[in-house]
Amino acid sequence: MKERGLLLAALVCCLLAAAPARAQGPTVKTFKLGETAVKVNVYERAGAAVTFFSPHHNERGGRELTKELVAARGGRFVEVEALDEAGAPARRLRFKVGGKSYSVDPNRIFTAQGRGCLKLPADAEAAVKAFAEELTALLFAPGGRSLRAGERFFVAVHNNADVEERAAAERDADLTALGFVRPLRSRNFLRGEFAESAAGVYLSNAEEDEDNFILVTTPGLVTHFAARGFNVVLQKPSAQLRDGKCSVDDGSLSVYAAFSDIPYINLEADALGGAARQRQMLQAVYDLLSQPR
Ligand SMILES: [Zn+2]
Repeated sequence: MKERGLLLAALVCCLLAAAPARAQGPTVKTFKLGETAVKVNVYERAGAAVTFFSPHHNERGGRELTKELVAARGGRFVEVEALDEAGAPARRLRFKVGGKSYSVDPNRIFTAQGRGCLKLPADAEAAVKAFAEELTALLFAPGGRSLRAGERFFVAVHNNADVEERAAAERDADLTALGFVRPLRSRNFLRGEFAESAAGVYLSNAEEDEDNFILVTTPGLVTHFAARGFNVVLQKPSAQLRDGKCSVDDGSLSVYAAFSDIPYINLEADALGGAARQRQMLQAVYDLLSQPR
């Protein structure tokens, strides 16, 4: 009997090993945001020590690509499930506190100042804070203030609207690498909508679409992506982010990461034409993982 049991165990083991590579999950966590239950889905596969995160559920391209890459190469992918009234994936999270309805951008909730910028009543702001703390304890090590054991950096995945679709007068306000360049004294063609949050920008002449860029929180991460032809924005160091302005500390996870000394990489790609480029960004992240520390 014992031997037959062992044989059976070996057979099951081999069958499992032969199964096609697939990310496990999702494991669905349910976090309370006020009186509303929010689903946070976790896809995971052994093979790489890295966490990817999508806070914006309407940014489907980046989500699907990341799931595919995690399934093929390993790692963990966490997504916040936000749905609109019709049940379609949405950017903003809708929730109720004290019977009243609110909505927040899930990437504006992670710092005290950013939450203050939302101008919510105290009870709703407290609910948002509690939700953000649960989420960061899942994304990072317990306590939410450092990377999980074995991880070297954290990766957020986003898609943005096509800048070329916008009227010329509005293009400076669009989220592109150029938007992080400080207006130059000798030229007035840049308005630098996001310049206050950036230490500087590397603009690659190999990048065809200015909607595609990578934001990093530490100078040491710039070279790897610049060398591969990506536009790279370096966020200001944490001391310079604490200046009280909503345009500098907007409550986003990149600012929270800087305050917590967590190396952070944000992959931004055009929602319409950026898929191939975002795949290259993800591959560049795995290249970085395979390099010696
Ligand atoms: Zn986004």
